[in-house]
Amino acid sequence: MRQHTIRRPVALTGVGLHSGKPAAVSLRPAPADSGIVFRVGADGPPIPAAPESVVDSHYATTLGRDGVRIQTIEHLMAAAAGLGIDNLEVVVDGTEVPAMDGSAKPFVGLITSAGRAAQNARRRSIDVPHAIRVGSESRWLQIVPADTFRISYTLDNDHPAIGLQTLTWTPSEEAFVAECAPARTYGFLKDLGFLRKSGRALGGSLDNTIVVGKNGTLNGLRFPDEFVRHKVLDLIGDLALLGRPLRAHVVARNAGHALNFELVVAIQRALGLERRAAGAAVRVVAALETAERAPGLSPAPAGV
Ligand SMILES: [Zn+2]
Repeated sequence: MRQHTIRRPVALTGVGLHSGKPAAVSLRPAPADSGIVFRVGADGPPIPAAPESVVDSHYATTLGRDGVRIQTIEHLMAAAAGLGIDNLEVVVDGTEVPAMDGSAKPFVGLITSAGRAAQNARRRSIDVPHAIRVGSESRWLQIVPADTFRISYTLDNDHPAIGLQTLTWTPSEEAFVAECAPARTYGFLKDLGFLRKSGRALGGSLDNTIVVGKNGTLNGLRFPDEFVRHKVLDLIGDLALLGRPLRAHVVARNAGHALNFELVVAIQRALGLERRAAGAAVRVVAALETAERAPGLSPAPAGV
């Protein structure tokens, strides 16, 4: 499978979910192997969508560099991952990716309108070397090696409007567009005061959030299990920080952005350790071969 970018630049404007401020994004084609790179303003320094750039993962995933921050990248990242876009330049005008309707659907529409272009580089997926688990007894994420990417999600919430929702999913592009991308973010009416006092959800409204009140949701649902679908969407967006598609089964229970990011870092660390171990093995083999080729020559004893 080859890497893809978009065919032509596209843009959209809206309001930031957390900042409440006007926000705009434009997407531009990017060269093979460049990954997804954000900038604030066309001349801003590049901020790669990579674990190293994440400066906050509470309530939303935020990238930053040199004091510049871009909030709430996850739904755009999910749309790019779901549509198989590997390389993209994202110019943000403001401090946040616009919330739009609270889902990834508008970003899917935007990328689709830009068209896709295949590039002359191969897409390489990530094989996790072994099972990895992060979290606690009640909230956790686990990833195990598998032949294809798959997510099994359990959302278990005390609120009767949510309750127990489970989803096992092997995302094809069609399934992502139809069943996952339209699922909107949600919040509890009782938390709104606290969130706003802490400078969050300032742009939240019934137009971009499923609001859960005491007796149920204040706006209608797109799917009966829209909550767990949105959790899957967020997870896809956060896993896209790894820069390459995963070949693994992710099993999740009541996770959130912070835990998603913990898993991303743990996967990255496991891959780094494996690379280092493979590098060390190659060096040992090379050293042994050199020693075999030169009989009589052996490494000097330590300390000499
Ligand atoms: Zn979300």
